[in-house]
Amino acid sequence: MEESTASGFLATFHQIMMFGSAAAVVIAVLIYIIHNVRVSSLNDYKKKYDFIRENEIKSYKYAFIVLAIGVVFIINTYGSGTLEFDAIWFSVRAFIAIAGGTLVGYIGSLILQYYYPTKLDKKLKKWRYMPRVNSETGNKMRLLREDEEDVHLDEGMRAEEEVFSMDYDVWIDEVTGTTKVEKYEGRLEALQCNNCGFFTMKVVREEIIQQATDTSEGELVKHYECQYCGSIRATQFHIAKEENYEAFRPEKMEFKKNAMVNLVKVDIHSNMGEKKSYDFQNVEQAQKFLEEFDIEKTQ
Ligand SMILES: [Zn+2]
Repeated sequence: MEESTASGFLATFHQIMMFGSAAAVVIAVLIYIIHNVRVSSLNDYKKKYDFIRENEIKSYKYAFIVLAIGVVFIINTYGSGTLEFDAIWFSVRAFIAIAGGTLVGYIGSLILQYYYPTKLDKKLKKWRYMPRVNSETGNKMRLLREDEEDVHLDEGMRAEEEVFSMDYDVWIDEVTGTTKVEKYEGRLEALQCNNCGFFTMKVVREEIIQQATDTSEGELVKHYECQYCGSIRATQFHIAKEENYEAFRPEKMEFKKNAMVNLVKVDIHSNMGEKKSYDFQNVEQAQKFLEEFDIEKTQ
């Protein structure tokens, strides 16, 4: 009697796992398809761009998670035709299933974190630079060069471009003179100004009120100034206790110049969407590298 209850449970369990794994694959594929249908349903290239930037990695992440759950289910059906219920076998298989699912999820996260961003960047560039069409006249529009676009931007926009926090693209219908201005996030971060609303708040000065030691936190004040309207703001930050504080004292550093620099990071973005990152231990190395850098040689 007990025997048959156990094998009854096993049969039901295997059915659920079988159904679950099929459902997971279907859901993962659906997530992928729905995302891409939503992208292609947007006619405006800028809207496509924003939607992809906002949602693509998120959607694919969900698809991988569902797929990983599907793998857990499918491994749990291994040997389902021949098995009598055996608690140890059952638990070992469940453990391997969870490990397999975790592995798939992990591979998915590696892909999305390291491989996919380059591909995404290319895709975004494609939509950003795809020639716009004036919806009223049907004329093809032309993207203005940086030096041509200024007259079409207001002062705040220009200030945002000046500090690299925002990037504006101006498209012009050269027949009618109609322009279309599109806003993109820039290369450097700036905060939004409470006064004028533009993203032009930059750190102009940092002041250490109290040095961090190995026993107490320090205090740092960052002074911000809006590069457009000139309003100022100061924010206080804690500096974490520094256990290896000794090592950061300038007199112990190897280089006298820029002695407090611990790491220099250089990111180079090519117009093909390729991104390369380089780390250096000091400014001199980075400068030397940049003098000799040739994008062609890195391909
Ligand atoms: Zn301002």
